Amino acid sequence: MRNRVNGVDCPWLNEGSSKATGLNSMVREAMCLSDWQNVVGQLITDSNGTKKADKDMEPIIETEPLGLDNPSAAIPVVISGPCSAESEDQTMRVARELADGGVNIFRAGIWKPRTRPGSFEGMGVTALPWLRSVKEETGMKCAVEVATSYHAYEALKHGIDILWIGARTTANPFAVQEIATAIEGSDVTVLVKNPVNPDIDLWTGAMERLYRAGIKRLGAIHRGFSHNGRSPYRNMPLWDIPIEFRKRHPGMVMINDPSHIAGKRKLVAPVARKALSLGFDGIFVESHCDPDNALSDSGQQMTPADFFSMLDRLSEKGGNSGELSGSDDNMIDELRSEIDNIDGELLTALLERMEVAREIGVYKNSRSMPPLQPSRWSELLNSRLEKGSRLGLRKEFVEMLFSFIHKESVKLQSEVRSDRV
Ligand code: PEP
Ligand code: MN
Repeated sequence: MRNRVNGVDCPWLNEGSSKATGLNSMVREAMCLSDWQNVVGQLITDSNGTKKADKDMEPIIETEPLGLDNPSAAIPVVISGPCSAESEDQTMRVARELADGGVNIFRAGIWKPRTRPGSFEGMGVTALPWLRSVKEETGMKCAVEVATSYHAYEALKHGIDILWIGARTTANPFAVQEIATAIEGSDVTVLVKNPVNPDIDLWTGAMERLYRAGIKRLGAIHRGFSHNGRSPYRNMPLWDIPIEFRKRHPGMVMINDPSHIAGKRKLVAPVARKALSLGFDGIFVESHCDPDNALSDSGQQMTPADFFSMLDRLSEKGGNSGELSGSDDNMIDELRSEIDNIDGELLTALLERMEVAREIGVYKNSRSMPPLQPSRWSELLNSRLEKGSRLGLRKEFVEMLFSFIHKESVKLQSEVRSDRV
């Protein structure tokens, strides 16, 4: 039977289809090889049969309306729910509170892509009937993250309305293709998060794979980008990237996920405000009835009550002005506290530097060397100027800064000298 895959009923698959859509992806590839070669042939050659360069393969993605808008909310698309569905009770509690407040789309992770093994990896298929109960009891549509064809089959089998592709999955074309192949022929809505790296083509490529599998209700979620440095954000927003993405795909719904950008509760509202001021169509926010004890992402989840008060503030007149105001000035507090930390580290580094300079002074003194060696100073300054320019710091600034620092070192070494004389 073609509408059963791996023993699972897949009613969305077209039994009569000559494309053998119900077979698993390996078998399908073998059976559709000639079809597939035709498609690829058309894609990589123009009408004269000449190969197109990769850069000429412009994406053509004409999405259909997603039907996610909430007519009763000031922000068109509002999606909320826990990072993870942890138990039936927790899932139903959050869902009821959100539905009571007017939310019409519920999110819950059931297969969690954890960066390190050993942390909570989600409840898996056990949680799918809970989401069915959410739908039946509250009328909300349900969204889950899928990362494999198995996830996709199971989610569709259980009547999930919206699938989202997580950031780590979007970064992997093989995984995206596997999902696209698995859901071909289904009538599901798919939201694609940006890949963890700021690569618009990779993001677009994931959309194209789904689009070519016949998925027309496609939307994008901006959740920020990984970094390995100092930042108040868990994932850098790099707002230019979603702005450019929108330019390339003007008709596509773009939703912001301030929870995964912020990584901490108090930054969620300012990130959401910024996104709305830039014209995002909606927000995707993690909420939990007991955020501090959540099994995943506890620092960034908020109670449904806090979520609604954030929505009220975001929807206030002028709320989309991009101005930071009232209790949303957390962003500036956060950035200032980051500056305070950096300055503390700068002062500690300066102290360490002066201690080393003093040691050098002791050595120079024991060899009757003068504190100032012009050739060393010019060598030092040139190397710092070069490094500064590589890092993007202004030459005048680096020159002035090291003149001061060096002057202080020479002064210290002169003191060592006079102490010893
Ligand atoms: C999530 O939304 O719970 C999630 C894991 O997201 P991301 O793929 O953005 O990390
Ligand atoms: Mn999460």
